[in-house]
Amino acid sequence: MAWFKRQSGELDPSGEKKIRTEGLWVKCEGCRQIIWKKDLEENLNVCPKCEKHFRIDARTRLAQLLDNGEYEVFSEKLVSTDPLKFVDLKPYSERLKRAQEETGLNDAVINARGKLNGRPVVISVMEYGFIGGSMGAVVGEMITRAIEQALEQRQSLIIISASGGARMMEGVLSLMQLAKISAALAKLDEARVPYISVLTDPTTGGVTASFAMLGDLIIAEPGALIGFAGPRVIEQTIRQKLPPGFQRSEFLLEHGMLDAVVHRKEMKSYISRALDFMTPGIVESAAS
Ligand SMILES: [Zn+2]
Repeated sequence: MAWFKRQSGELDPSGEKKIRTEGLWVKCEGCRQIIWKKDLEENLNVCPKCEKHFRIDARTRLAQLLDNGEYEVFSEKLVSTDPLKFVDLKPYSERLKRAQEETGLNDAVINARGKLNGRPVVISVMEYGFIGGSMGAVVGEMITRAIEQALEQRQSLIIISASGGARMMEGVLSLMQLAKISAALAKLDEARVPYISVLTDPTTGGVTASFAMLGDLIIAEPGALIGFAGPRVIEQTIRQKLPPGFQRSEFLLEHGMLDAVVHRKEMKSYISRALDFMTPGIVESAAS
């Protein structure tokens, strides 16, 4: 009878995984070792044993990149109005409220001004913990405002993506953001202000299809999932098995979709060197 035998040897490792945040120990999904949470945090949330890059929230990211962890946020007051009064398993308005309580943000992105090794930069960081980092009208507007701010101040723009794509609860309004952001980026490009796009795990859907892939320099963290449609959808459409590592940073680098794959520890100095090259002579003060 079935309950005497184990039907398959391994637990199913597929499907959405979450980083466990409770307790003092964390199990790494890369090497399956148990890591002391404090060790992990001190190592910028990268597994000290196998270098797997854990997902981090937007505030941690800003603190890692900007000098002394100091920055000034802007356009943080925008809030979604739930224009379609959308209801799936539960009302969109409820999802929004819950995400706002959990993250302390109004929507899935933080806009900030700060300095990166002494250079003034405008930076937008997406928050995956807010409805999967999805892009609705507010995220679209905030990213557009960050681009406009960079254009106005002639300061380099950095966008850190972490997103499941467009926010389906806002229907076509979320899709319109792709065009709006792309148009704003075209103006930034004409004005010759640099834009560095950093792709983190995961960057998919409408975000990949618009601003994430429009950077003057496009870099990604190791092992990040980057794609448009998910692998299952593609396999069903083309009726072929996809190669191993498909849609991961290293695969995309090999196929010319990315400029570099950069370890989290080197991210700040890498961006700083890139800005040195792109905008020589704008360092304002001594770097930390
Ligand atoms: Zn590991």
